Formats: sequence, structure tokens, C-alpha cells
Amino acid sequence: MTLFKFEVLHTSTKSRARVGRIHTPHGIIDTPNFVAVGTNGTLKSLDNEMVSSIGLQLMFCNTYHLLLQPGPEVIENGGGIHSFINRNMPIITDSGGFQVFSLAYGSVADELKSKGTKKQGGSVIKITEDGVHFRSYRDGRSILLTPETSVATQKAIGADIIIPFDELPPYHITDSELRKSLDRTHAWEKRSLEAHLKDPRGQAMYAVIHGGVDDSLREKSCNFLRELPFNGYAIGGSMGKTKDQMVSMLSSLLPKLPTEAPNHLLGIADLESLKGCVPLGIDTFDSSYPTKAARHGTLLTSTGGMKITRGRHSGEFKPIEAGCICYTCQNYSRAYIHHLFKAKELTSMTLASIHNLHFMVELMKSFRENILLNKV
Ligand SMILES: [Zn+2]
Repeated sequence: MTLFKFEVLHTSTKSRARVGRIHTPHGIIDTPNFVAVGTNGTLKSLDNEMVSSIGLQLMFCNTYHLLLQPGPEVIENGGGIHSFINRNMPIITDSGGFQVFSLAYGSVADELKSKGTKKQGGSVIKITEDGVHFRSYRDGRSILLTPETSVATQKAIGADIIIPFDELPPYHITDSELRKSLDRTHAWEKRSLEAHLKDPRGQAMYAVIHGGVDDSLREKSCNFLRELPFNGYAIGGSMGKTKDQMVSMLSSLLPKLPTEAPNHLLGIADLESLKGCVPLGIDTFDSSYPTKAARHGTLLTSTGGMKITRGRHSGEFKPIEAGCICYTCQNYSRAYIHHLFKAKELTSMTLASIHNLHFMVELMKSFRENILLNKV
């Protein structure tokens, strides 16, 4: 089995941007790269043969959703996630924490003041130093997610890269609460790593750096986590209100990360953020944005988003983008795709998703080419 390994092939002379290669048991990930989000083990409206043929080298699956349905036992009995979903390329899973805490806090700030017990959408949540207790929205069963159970679930799923259990603090939080949350997250990540190292199974584990938009807390998180034998570093938690705030936080954080390990920006890969973050030296980015936009009729092109449902596309018998070699552009016209969206046919989502994902693959390839030429 290929062991996890990262190599930097070139660092730009113009910025911190670098071209690298992550080796995993299921193949190589060229970096920087876009990571598609396949929450339930599929990119919505596409099967995994198609996803592989588009060339998406890493796919992100969500432990929280897979834990509730179909359950880790089914995936393990099915030979692990690669075999179960028919994907012979790299996969990363998260810890489940993000969804559990999003569920707990929602977007409402004041809900925090409930001394750890929160009722929302039928899910009762209790947060202790041990972990989080929540109720499945699917069948009402009570589930305890701890660093150890999150890692055990991710072992059963069997992705190439796994993530330690962390706390996602709500956006509105006092400094002292953020500090407390950071200490808890660090303790949980350490416990997760210990559980993982008892039975590595060829998987790699990325730490998650927290600290919100406070540069000193980000540095503290970085210093704590880089002392532990993680294989890479994901950047999570609040990135601030604006893109400028995020870029500023990341500009200060990235030079503190070990350059010999890969890093990952959690949940962000819109075009503007990619332009701002690739020069900072971020290696991988995950986002559901390109597929979500596709399902709502927004097609990505070199001149910006094209709203295919607009009337003017109804008679355009040409591909979405001239020169695009994706399956959709090779076979179908704007007029036909416009018609499929208007008729609410499911095929519209499939064809739009294929184009947008192909666009992302090509975009990242051009980033890598430009870094090699020191243009980024
Ligand atoms: Zn296309």
C-alpha cells in the first residue's frame, strides 16, 4: 500500500504559492486543487464513474451524514467507502463535528447561552468535555460523538485522509469563550490523534487549526498542533465576515505552518477566494459551490457565471463555452440545457454539474501551470 506522502515540486518566486503532489493509497492529488463535496458518498446528480472521468482527484464525504445513513457498519461490510461507492481515487472525511455544532448553534448568536443544552429542530444537544450528545434527525436515536467515536466511525468508513473531532464555536462568541473552545478543541484533537495512531490502517490525519480571526489564537493553535504528529493541516472555524478579513487572517497564519506538510482550507473554494488564497500557499480547497450553482442553473465560464435559465439562451445552439472539452459541451447546446431547466428535468442538473466540475478541474490546472511559470 502506498503510504501517505507530500512533495513540493515548485514554490513560486512571486508568492507563497506552490505546486505539489499528495500521495495516498488511492492515488495522487496534484496541488493546489479543488475538492468536490460528496456529502452522502455522491456528488448530487452524478455517479462516481462520471466523477472520476471528470478528473476530480479528491472527494470530500461527510461523516455526520454517513454515520446516520447508511451507518458505518454498512460501509465497512461493503468493503469500505471506496468499494461501497465505486471510487478508486482519494477520499477525505471530516469528523462530523461541523454538522453537529451547526445544528446546535444554528445561525442565531444568543442560543449559546443555554449552558450546553440546546433544543432545535427536535435535536437535543449536550456538550461536555467528553463530546457531544445529539439526537438523530432521521430516527430519533441518541448518539454520542466523541473524539474516539468519530475516529472509530472514520476508520469504518475508511477514507484516505481523516479529520480529528473539533468544536465549531458559534460566530458570535466572547474572547474568553473562544479561548475555552480552543483549549477544548486541542484536547479533542489530541485524543483523536491518539485513537487514530493505535490503528492507522494507512490513513492520514490532518489537524484542524482554529482561533477564529484572532491572529494570536491562530498562532497558538498552530503551535500546539504542529508539535503533534499530524500528516497535514486543515484550517477551520470562523474565517471572518469578509473575504479581506479571511485573506488577512490566512496571510498571517500560513507562514507559521510547516511547509513540508499539505494544508487544506475547509469549506471555501469560490473563484474569488481561490484567487486570493492560492498565492498564500493553500494546497487544497473543498466547496459545494460549483455543484450547488450548477443545480440552480448557474454555469461557470471564463467570463463569469452564466444564468442558463435566462430567455436569451433559449435559441443559442452552441456549447456553454466555446472550446470546452467537457462531456456536456461536447454533446449539448445552451438551448437544450435551457430547455431542460425550464422543463425541470433532472438531466439539467447532471449536465450543468459536469460542466462546472470540469471548469474547476481546468481552473486548478491553470493555477498549477501559472505557479510553475512564477506568474502566480
Ligand atoms: Zn463544458
